[in-house]
Amino acid sequence: MKVSRTIEAVRLDLAPHPSGSIGLVPTMGALHDGHLSLLRAARAECDTVVMSLFVNPAQFSQASDLARYPRDEERDLAVAADAGVDLVFAPSAEEMYPPGFQTWVEVTELGSILEGVLRPGHFRGVATVVLKLFGIVRPDRAYFGQKDAQQVEVIRRMIQDLALEVELRVLPTVRDADGLALSSRNALLSREERQRALALPRALSTRDPEAARKVLAESNGLEVDYVLIADFDPPVLAAAVRVGSTRLIDNVVLEGEME
Ligand code: AMP
Repeated sequence: MKVSRTIEAVRLDLAPHPSGSIGLVPTMGALHDGHLSLLRAARAECDTVVMSLFVNPAQFSQASDLARYPRDEERDLAVAADAGVDLVFAPSAEEMYPPGFQTWVEVTELGSILEGVLRPGHFRGVATVVLKLFGIVRPDRAYFGQKDAQQVEVIRRMIQDLALEVELRVLPTVRDADGLALSSRNALLSREERQRALALPRALSTRDPEAARKVLAESNGLEVDYVLIADFDPPVLAAAVRVGSTRLIDNVVLEGEME
């Protein structure tokens, strides 16, 4: 497995593969089984698998959130190698946002509801970095998790609106045995907070906003940002809660075949 840190190096690495398909799995690292499911799908479906490993500062609204985001590059590279990744693109922030950078992608409506209300600029950062990764890697397929349902919706809209030639592949949410959706942010929870966080999947499993709100209201010390049905493709019951200083999002698919 190769690790490249510059755009130029990635272009050189991928130049010898003009005929085979390329799969891109964008990640921010702190890899878990949710990421692994995307990597495995990419490995099964593509000739060359590229994983990006970049904690994208542009999608964090708060410096403190960016600073405490879990990072363990050494372990991530070992996990990626094990999953059969061919190339990891792990750029610096300066490589992706050099001095003078001023071009942003805004998915106006989808990017400003739900998470977009509470995290202004978040989806602008996501869409911009994903489009830039598409331009660098030129994937045939890009892999995302249903765990971040709104992110999927924003990227699907961007691909359609900008007529990008990439197939969006969405994989189901991977959960721990106790129901908690895997997330790099789970590492920030204390044992006691993690126990309290279980009210989130429990609430969503009702598949009913009213019932879910009741479960969350009765649970100890969870701050609820929102619980509502989002008319995505497929529709989901989505929720965001804060447990101590950690914010968790999750959703369940209400129809279709994802879950
Ligand atoms: P992140 O590193 O958190 O930016 O996530 C990278 C990709 O992994 C995104 O497409 C996420 O939606 C996906 N992902 C994160 N957690 C999960 C999960 N529990 N199940 C499935 N996919 C996930």
